[in-house]
Amino acid sequence: MPDLERGKFPSGSYALRDRLCPGAFAYCSQLSESGEVEAEDSSEDAEEGNLLHKVWLGQPYEEILTDEQEWVTNWARTETAQILNHAGFGDCLRHVEKRLWWHEGPTPIASGKLDLHCVLGRKGIIIDGKFGRALVDPAWGNLQLARYNALLSKNYQLDSCTAVILQPRVGVEDRVTIVEYSSDELRLAVLDWKQTLVTQALPFAPRVPGFIQCNYCPGKAFCPEAKETSLITKKPPSFPELSNADLVWFLDRCKLADRVIAAAKKEARARLEADPEALGGRWFLKKGRRKRTIANANTAYGRMQGVFTPEQFASVAKIQIGALEEAYKKATGLKGKAADDGLTELLGDVLEVSLTEPSLNYAPSK
Ligand code: SF4
Repeated sequence: MPDLERGKFPSGSYALRDRLCPGAFAYCSQLSESGEVEAEDSSEDAEEGNLLHKVWLGQPYEEILTDEQEWVTNWARTETAQILNHAGFGDCLRHVEKRLWWHEGPTPIASGKLDLHCVLGRKGIIIDGKFGRALVDPAWGNLQLARYNALLSKNYQLDSCTAVILQPRVGVEDRVTIVEYSSDELRLAVLDWKQTLVTQALPFAPRVPGFIQCNYCPGKAFCPEAKETSLITKKPPSFPELSNADLVWFLDRCKLADRVIAAAKKEARARLEADPEALGGRWFLKKGRRKRTIANANTAYGRMQGVFTPEQFASVAKIQIGALEEAYKKATGLKGKAADDGLTELLGDVLEVSLTEPSLNYAPSK
């Protein structure tokens, strides 16, 4: 099957998108057939990822690497060699960037291009390199890797498979994650993918927008559902280029986003207070900072008298105008405008009046 054909069938590399948005594959296929989306991601990040994969996997390349890229690829090569040796695959043939197909009878139904895999008897190993800086799901919870396990198992009738993710550019503790699939788990991985394939093949499979699935979906620039939630994009738009109408559209959604963010953070805080591991360590509560305040200004002043003159003490004290007004009303018995006028006259030019920046406001009826 030529590699160009792979776009006509679901691929393991879109595992999470296809599970979360069953209509995505059909929609993107339509766009691709009409030439509206490119089959390959040509962003700078994607190009760098391709280059680092080539270097790591020993394929020819022409570019000059930076020191950091040298480090990243050396690290990945060393880890790969150690893992393969340790798992007993040190002398096995390494299949590199090979696309595997899943056929139902003679008909292909899905595929996936594995970075590196080896097979020894009925045991397999897959190593997947992730060279971005964002943390991806670890091997044991990574759906793309589960799809690759399913493919390897279908192609080689495996009894077990080791799956590894290497992420050199994240924190040390997350750089290598490994999972071992038993034969039952391999069967489940096949069934799980089958279920998604069936759902996405249904006529009118729904398009379900969301941060995870839309972020890497090639159709997001055209998809009406994604546009409706286009706050969910990798980068903010270039605001100076937006029309007034688009800016209003955006601000309306920011208002909703503020509420959603506040509610999500409140819920996350509550869950983490009950169980620090509730969110898998990806989100956690950082210890609060030590904060000092003066509980009683009068006592503090008394205690500092031997050190500070009253002027020195006043220069570091901050008087809140609202609290001063309340104290003035209490002390004089004046109220309302009389109190305002009395205090204003008493303070004279010590009372500075300034205007803050106009604030952005919202009129729901317009
Ligand atoms: S952009 Fe989002 S909603 Fe639209 S098809 Fe892709 S994943 Fe689904």
